[in-house]
Amino acid sequence: MEEKTNFRSTAFDQACQTILGSFPESIGVAFKFLDCGCSLLCGVSAQGDPIGELVHVSGQPQKKGKKPPICFRCKRDGGFNRVIWQGIHWPGDESELPDKELRLMIGSNVFGPDYIETNT
Ligand SMILES: [Zn+2]
Repeated sequence: MEEKTNFRSTAFDQACQTILGSFPESIGVAFKFLDCGCSLLCGVSAQGDPIGELVHVSGQPQKKGKKPPICFRCKRDGGFNRVIWQGIHWPGDESELPDKELRLMIGSNVFGPDYIETNT
C-alpha cells in the first residue's frame, strides 16, 4: 500500500487545491495516474458529475521558474489507455470525509459500477 502514496506529488496536491478552489461545488477530485508518472484530474460534484475541465498534471521533473514540463507520451496518446491507478481525492482530514455510501456512489458514477475504494 505504501508505494501508492509516492504517486502523489506536490504538483498533484497543488492541482487538487486549484480545482477545489476554482469550483466550490466540487466535493472531491477524481484522478487517474498514468504509467508515465502523469495524472489526470477532474473535480466531481456531490452527485458524481464531473466539474470543470480535465487537468493534466505532468509527472516529468519540474524545473524552478519554468513552465510545467511536457510529457511526450501523453502528448501523443492522451494517456487514457495507460491508467495504473484511479480514485477520488477527498479534501480535508478523515472527519470531513463524506459517508462511505456517498463516496462509493460518486465513485461508481465517475468510474463505472466496478469502482472500489483502494485507499482504505
Ligand atoms: Zn505522461
